[in-house]
Parts: sequence; structure tokens; C-alpha cells
Amino acid sequence: MTVTTFSELELDESLLDALQDKGFTRPTAIQAEAIPPALEGRDILGSAPTGTGKTAAYLLPVMQHLLDFPRKKSGPPRVLILTPTRELAMQVAEHAKELATHTKLDIATITGGVAYMNHAEVFSENQDIVVATTGRLLQYIKEENFDCRAVEMLILDEADRMLDMGFAQDIEHISGETRWRKQTMLFSATLEGQAIKDFAERLLEDPAEVSATPSVRERKKIHQWYYRADNVEHKTALLVNLLGQPDVTRSIVFVRKRERVHELAGWLRDAGIQTCYLEGEMVQAKRNEAIKRLTDGRVNVLIATDVAARGIDIPDVSHVFNFDLPRGSDTYLHRIGRTGRAGRKGTAISLVEAHDHLLLGKIERYIQEPLKSRVIEELRPTTRTPSDKLKGKPSKKVKARREEKKKEQDKTKGRVKQRHRDTKNVGKRRQPAAAKQTSPEAEGTDKQS
Ligand code: ADP
Ligand code: MG
Repeated sequence: MTVTTFSELELDESLLDALQDKGFTRPTAIQAEAIPPALEGRDILGSAPTGTGKTAAYLLPVMQHLLDFPRKKSGPPRVLILTPTRELAMQVAEHAKELATHTKLDIATITGGVAYMNHAEVFSENQDIVVATTGRLLQYIKEENFDCRAVEMLILDEADRMLDMGFAQDIEHISGETRWRKQTMLFSATLEGQAIKDFAERLLEDPAEVSATPSVRERKKIHQWYYRADNVEHKTALLVNLLGQPDVTRSIVFVRKRERVHELAGWLRDAGIQTCYLEGEMVQAKRNEAIKRLTDGRVNVLIATDVAARGIDIPDVSHVFNFDLPRGSDTYLHRIGRTGRAGRKGTAISLVEAHDHLLLGKIERYIQEPLKSRVIEELRPTTRTPSDKLKGKPSKKVKARREEKKKEQDKTKGRVKQRHRDTKNVGKRRQPAAAKQTSPEAEGTDKQS
């Protein structure tokens, strides 16, 4: 039976009320699949694409457990949630506080970038749920300031990212410190790769594996295309033009390196566009301020590196721009997942220089979808479209040679079926599909400019 309403999940009235306050009418696919086994107390190994509601998928069963088994006197945290970044920790805590509005549950965060003493209250007051990044938490554990013994549930959010960021050992250490826990849940955008599988095996016990393909309703409606650019000045001009278009209401612009964040902020300022930015080295207060300026609508453009932006849920992002293409195709998916959240439409636009075409080809193969190029008339690139070879695709010549070879082989095996239409076409071979792409920009030309 598939769950289609939150009330079917037998959640406490206080949680159902909070869901209603938030306007969540139906559970998403991952929520519908993960919540029932989690409520039974099973370990969970969960994967679902970005933006499909994984946070509530673990917060709701966690809170239900705390409500079902209320503590008799105040004490240290019973639930520990680990996230890869400070921003994500704060967002998860925020989400938890909203879901807990009609309850008496206490929620706190422990992250770096906060004055050390500000955590004093976390240690002295009652805490039910603590959301933490690993570094600072471990420091407190080592100094015996943080008591892990009451932890009943451990949750790893964005586990794939935590591994990428090199936190595996930290997490295993924390796992050891919380060895009296009864339940562990691991959530990730993907479960691809041996590293994450091994990791899950060490941390989880007979987990319920839930991997939700989002329903059509939730599936991302992200329109994606790219503009070819001659160089970085050209990319900047394209970006300035695009940011000025009326449907571009709230954007995240991704760049590859921290230095580029500051450069680009300057270039856009010169063009009269105010931005805020996020990069890994910023102090916490500055990061919060940047996110707040964007969500308050004081600025409409956030420039960010991947490390800084991971997992952040900024509502109503109309456009994601890849000012620099990411090196990894999975990063591309994560970036564009910042727009079109929870079933809304979004747009992802990449700016592509000649040397990026190999990466672009990789991305297209990864997302199994060709990306179309568009042109802004007054900002036409002067360089020509690179050949397929640059995209890592076999050239026409190579393809033809492969086909010949295959035919030869088939013949010698005597398996080839002689069809009348094949014999008829000898000598005027049909054009391979690639040849039709010689002027892909003609049909994609932007009407507005
Ligand atoms: P993920 O962790 O999978 O990337 P989040 O938990 O951050 O996704 O949720 C993405 C967005 O969807 C958030 O804005 C969240 O408030 C919203 N959301 C989550 N669950 C639901 C639901 N059942 N109905 C509507 N919106 C939801
Ligand atoms: Mg998440």
C-alpha cells in the first residue's frame, strides 16, 4: 500500500498541524517510503534526488519517537543529526523547529563559526534534537563537553557529500561515541559508488533501503540550455544580459573557485547588479547575512562556490547559472537542483567556453539528455561550434569506420540479414544523425533580447 496522506502515517496531531501550517498536503515519495519503516524503529538507507523532501522524511519519525517516549527529566540530546555544512545544519534545525512548533521539543545546532561559549547553553539546558557539523561536535566530545550517551537516534544527512568532504573518519568516531543508539538513518542524493555502500554497511544494521524516484508531480521541471561564449568577458556580458531579463527573479550563479566569486561580484557591480555571495572561507555571520539578503529579496543574485552552496534550500530560485561548468556531472545535478524545488518550474543555464565542451558532453551523457544551445543576438559568439570530437563523441568518420567494421564482423559470422532497402541504399548512405547538428543555434535563437 502506498501512503498518500500524512494522516495515514499515524503521526501525532501536533505534527500534522505543523505540516498543515507549512502547507505540506501530501508526503513526497521518499517521505511515504521512509517514514513507515523509520517509525517501526528500523535503520534507514535512503536516497532521493535533491529537493524531494528528505529532511522531513527523517525529522517526522524522529519527532514522533520523541513524542511517543517523552523523557521524564531534562537531559542531553536524544537525537543527533549530522550535516556536511553549517548552512545545512541551520536549515535542518529551522525545518525541525517549524515541525515542532506545536510540541515542547528542544532543538539546537552545534557548528563551527559560532563563538565557542555560545554553545554553553546546549550543554546546560535540556536538548532533544541537536543538528551538528562534525568538526566542532568532535571537539566538544573530546573535551567531554558533549554527552553522547543519551543519543538514541543518529541521522546522517547528505552522507555522500560528507564522504566527499573527507568526514568519513569523523563520522565513524561519532558513531562509536553514540554506540548505545537504537536507530541510524543515512540519507543521500545518490548511493552510487563503493565508498558510500561500505560506509552504510559499517554504520547501519539491516537497514530498510528506500530509494524514491520522485512522482511526476514532484519531478523537477528544470529547463536547461546553454550559451556558447568566447571568453570570460563574453560570459560576463551574457550573464549581465540574462540577469536583466524579466523572468529572472532570483538566481544562484555558480563559479568554480573562491577567487572567481569576488571577481564576478565586482564585474556585476560594475554593470549595476548588486549581489551577495557564499564561499567556504566566510565567517558564519557573513554567510547567514548573505542568505538572508537573498531570501529577503534585498538582492536577487547569489554567487556561490559548490562547497558553500551544498544542500542549502533557498526558496523560489528561478534560475541557476553555471558561470563556470562544474568538473563533475553529479555536481551539475546538485547545482541545478537548487531551482525547481518541490515540483515548481526552474531554469538552469550554463555558459560554455570552447574548452568546456568535453565537460558538457560528459554532463549530457550523465543526465541522459542533450542540452540545446541558445544565442542572444547581440552577443553571438565569434568562435565556431566545436566539433563532436570535443564533446567526447565519436566523429562521423570514426562512426562510419565502426559501422563498416561491425558489418564486416556480422558478415563473417553470417548473421547479417539482407534487407531489400539496405541493398537499395548502397552508395548513398543516409546522413548520420550528428551531421544534422551543424547549425544547432539556428532553431534555439532567443526571441527576447
Ligand atoms: P532534500 O533534502 O531532499 O533536498 P528538502 O527536505 O530540503 O529536500 O525539501 C525541499 C523543499 O520541499 C523544501 O522547501 C521543503 O519545505 C519542501 N517540502 C518537503 N516536503 C514537502 C511536502 N510533503 N509537500 C510540499 N513541500 C515539501
Ligand atoms: Mg536535504
